[in-house]
Amino acid sequence: MFEKLETLDDLFEMQLKDLYSAEKQLVKALPQMAEAAKDGRLRRGFERHLTETENQVKRLEKIGKDLELDLDGHTCKAMEGLISEGQETMSENATEEVMDAALIAASQRIEHYEISGYGTAAHFAERLGYADAASLLRQTLEEEQLTDTKLNDLAKNYLNAKAE
Ligand code: FE
Ligand code: FE
Ligand code: FE
Repeated sequence: MFEKLETLDDLFEMQLKDLYSAEKQLVKALPQMAEAAKDGRLRRGFERHLTETENQVKRLEKIGKDLELDLDGHTCKAMEGLISEGQETMSENATEEVMDAALIAASQRIEHYEISGYGTAAHFAERLGYADAASLLRQTLEEEQLTDTKLNDLAKNYLNAKAE
């Protein structure tokens, strides 16, 4: 529970804490997803996004430091759920192509959740006049959007065709 939620500043802090928890969970989950991927491009995509995700955690830590906010102590339950659905998928006995298609489906859900969170947080930062934070949040938003696009391209051009 949050102690106070009265102002847009409070809500912004809550959004940051949620994103911070979500990203830290992903730093742990992405290596497993990379390992489960059969297609080399998909595996390298997960590995690249792991590096980006580690940097996204650092961006949030910088924002927390600059604005003197403690981002620890909250768990994003939605990301817990999305990751556990992904893990359920990975434990299925699927063919290689179907497994990769399922991994893409799970990770696109994750990227969309992040895109939504960062879009909101960046908008709040702008409204509140935190220009540096807004710019950092927009950088991450672009990485999430690009990741989603790449997953989409992989799915459409190759994997789904192989899985048919
Ligand atoms: Fe992220
Ligand atoms: Fe959340
Ligand atoms: Fe992401």
